[in-house]
Amino acid sequence: MNFHPEIKFIFFLFSALVVSMIISVTLMFLKEKEGRAVERSLLLLLFSLILFILIYIFSLNQLIIGFLIITCIFLFFLVIPFSPDKNIIDEYPNSRIDERDTMFSRNELKPGTSRFEKYYSKNPDKKILDDLFRKEPGLLKKGSKYYHEQAFQMADDNFDKVELLYNRIEGSVEHSTIDVHKKIITDSIKKLAIDLGALNIGVTLCRDYHYYSHKGRREEYDNKIVPVHSYAIAFTVEMDAEMVAGAPQASIVVESSKQYLIAGRIAVDLAEKIREMGYASRAHIDGNYQVICPLVARDAGLGEIGRMGILMTPDHGPRVRIAVVTTNLELEVDKYKRDHSMLEFCKLCKKCAESCPGKSISCNDPEMINGDRKWQTNQESCFTYWCKAGTDCGRCMAVCPYSHPNHSWHKLIRYGIKRSKVFRYMAVYLDDFFYGRKPRVREMPF
Ligand code: SF4
Ligand code: SF4
Repeated sequence: MNFHPEIKFIFFLFSALVVSMIISVTLMFLKEKEGRAVERSLLLLLFSLILFILIYIFSLNQLIIGFLIITCIFLFFLVIPFSPDKNIIDEYPNSRIDERDTMFSRNELKPGTSRFEKYYSKNPDKKILDDLFRKEPGLLKKGSKYYHEQAFQMADDNFDKVELLYNRIEGSVEHSTIDVHKKIITDSIKKLAIDLGALNIGVTLCRDYHYYSHKGRREEYDNKIVPVHSYAIAFTVEMDAEMVAGAPQASIVVESSKQYLIAGRIAVDLAEKIREMGYASRAHIDGNYQVICPLVARDAGLGEIGRMGILMTPDHGPRVRIAVVTTNLELEVDKYKRDHSMLEFCKLCKKCAESCPGKSISCNDPEMINGDRKWQTNQESCFTYWCKAGTDCGRCMAVCPYSHPNHSWHKLIRYGIKRSKVFRYMAVYLDDFFYGRKPRVREMPF
């Protein structure tokens, strides 16, 4: 059968477009050093070339027309928007979390101390669980599975430097109040944070549930937290994709500690600048929080809290660290930009749950926990795995499709996920096809 010249031309354009798209995707995978994805895309390229050449040689008109029609229908379903389910989780928690119940606080309880006795006499059920992590070598400790002398030392140094920032997180306001224009000062603070290294920044009104109910660390242990500030500035810093891809090996804890330090420095700088203008402020940085940063950041419009229970940003997923500054300086609040498509994608994806070495992430839909419908990771089994690994694991963060570097193809996929239900299904299969359902642990960067 002869090829109609018009069909031949359209088909030529179509096949050239498909081939160049696959080449461009292959180059992106090469840049990401994703061996499996490169192999898969080369196979796809070969398959497409053979198919197109055969169609061309044998002038299979009907096949070409069928091919083009199916492509058009497929593209149509990809571009028509389907609004996602808006009731996947409850938006506002109805109670405050007690920092004394967090694993970091429980990890600091020393057997034989009155604090230890008091906590476990009130919470005997937690004692059984916590005895499990106490049997493991511990975070950054010799004997742990991923012990790496230099890397652990580097991470330890970073955490020590974070602690040196604690004496700058709050302070007295000795300057008289400067009158400022709400919008101008908000923009200036945001610009300063970005100049200092922040990735994204947002402002929200402080809400009761943003605050822990009690302090759970250091000398302020047991102190009731009384919210005193009205505004919260939340910002993220990016974690390096290659360092994260090596998780749960030592590269993850080096990168986390480094970004906690960078975020901490930005936060204390911002808090000091605000005090210099005559307004009270407090920085909330690693190991010294009064607020729950992911909740504040979510309400400041920086992302959603997905299946793994941490902030997922639209462009870098969970591959960020967060810090917060609370203040009484009146600021322009960001609009609450909920992105239900991310949560709907989480419902379908489940990759973090299936890859979690601690079996700490649920594969189910959100459940009612303490009166709120949400996903909640099992913090005890997660922390026990950290103490075994010696690192803060981060395997969930490494495998999350949203953690891929923010290159043009990934941007396009994220746009599609946001827009179309069909695309959300397709994106799960595409990610599995190229990166694997359980992506391999990458070698640590040198
Ligand atoms: S891996 Fe998948 S399910 Fe888990 S947080 Fe990321 S998108 Fe959601
Ligand atoms: S950090 Fe590791 S153990 Fe914890 S939830 Fe993520 S993958 Fe699981």
